[in-house]
Amino acid sequence: MALMNILLYLCLDRLVTAPRSPTAHPGRCPPGHFSMGQAATCSPWLSCEQLRTEVRPLKRVGEGAVKTVFLSEWKERKVALSRLTRPEVRDDFLHGLRMLQALQSEHVVTLVGYCEDDDTILTEYHPLGSLGNLEATLNLAKYRSLNTWQHRLQLALGYVAILDFLHRSPLGTLVMCDSSDLPKTLSQYLLTANFSIVLNDLDALPLVNRSSGALVKCGHRELRGDFVAPEQLWPFGEDVPFQDDLMPAYDEKSDVWKIPDVSSFLLGHVEGSDMVRFHLFDIHKACKSQVPEERPTAQAVLDTYQKVLNLLRDTATSQTREML
Ligand code: ADP
Ligand code: MG
Ligand code: MG
Repeated sequence: MALMNILLYLCLDRLVTAPRSPTAHPGRCPPGHFSMGQAATCSPWLSCEQLRTEVRPLKRVGEGAVKTVFLSEWKERKVALSRLTRPEVRDDFLHGLRMLQALQSEHVVTLVGYCEDDDTILTEYHPLGSLGNLEATLNLAKYRSLNTWQHRLQLALGYVAILDFLHRSPLGTLVMCDSSDLPKTLSQYLLTANFSIVLNDLDALPLVNRSSGALVKCGHRELRGDFVAPEQLWPFGEDVPFQDDLMPAYDEKSDVWKIPDVSSFLLGHVEGSDMVRFHLFDIHKACKSQVPEERPTAQAVLDTYQKVLNLLRDTATSQTREML
């Protein structure tokens, strides 16, 4: 028995510590590698040479301040080729690339290759496009069956899971800065074909360093409106002109402030979404605390969402059972 235990322990230890071979884990590749879709193998990120000769741009599918995105073809597969829009925003483009490289996971779009000399990035293509298209997508006959509170709450869960991932990332606490209004925020995420959300635009993810007391500011310009957190607004009144160096810095709780608005969009207006809103009322109220420290962490919001999903699923199941 003892011998068996030792053997089992050794086997488990090998399983846990063995370096992942490029073929072992589909969807989870070693650094510098990728796998797309159902592919079981991992390949190295494409080089400049490969990007120049093997990738064929087909049509423009998106554009933001930093990148123009083209649906493209690589070895008969669809990929998204992003090109820098103008040289003035090259630092943001390169920051986005560094973040893409470092944060590859289920929460982030798959990096397929890049070429810094040409200012190009290649990622997995997601035909359903940005999260901003959600309502239009759910109205298509093909996806109408997914337009339920269950699927929509699952999306909200995925969204908060991404924030939680950023706030506790391998690089430290990152703030999702490129989110000054709802449409802009939605445009940074993609809806995948299996109806989950991945983060696509990582150009503005500054790092909060608690131990050194370094907080962040999202950009150098004045932010307005009530979508952004109160601490992101100019605090010295209309009479004092905005000055970037006088603007106080803040932390990742500015992301938590925005959760109720994004989630409410994701929940939409279908049968049951108001019932879900009712169950999320208290946690969303806490997200809207004026004082950032009083807001819950993204992790706590995620836990609550999961509990609500479980509770409502159980209730729905027992109701169905009673009807039978
Ligand atoms: P920017 O940094 O300029 O804001 P984004 O990375 O946000 O650029 O991309 C702009 C838009 O391009 C997205 O909102 C989305 O509509 C589209 N897009 C980007 N990447 C992909 C992709 N991999 N698949 C499908 N559409 C994409
Ligand atoms: Mg963007
Ligand atoms: Mg961007």
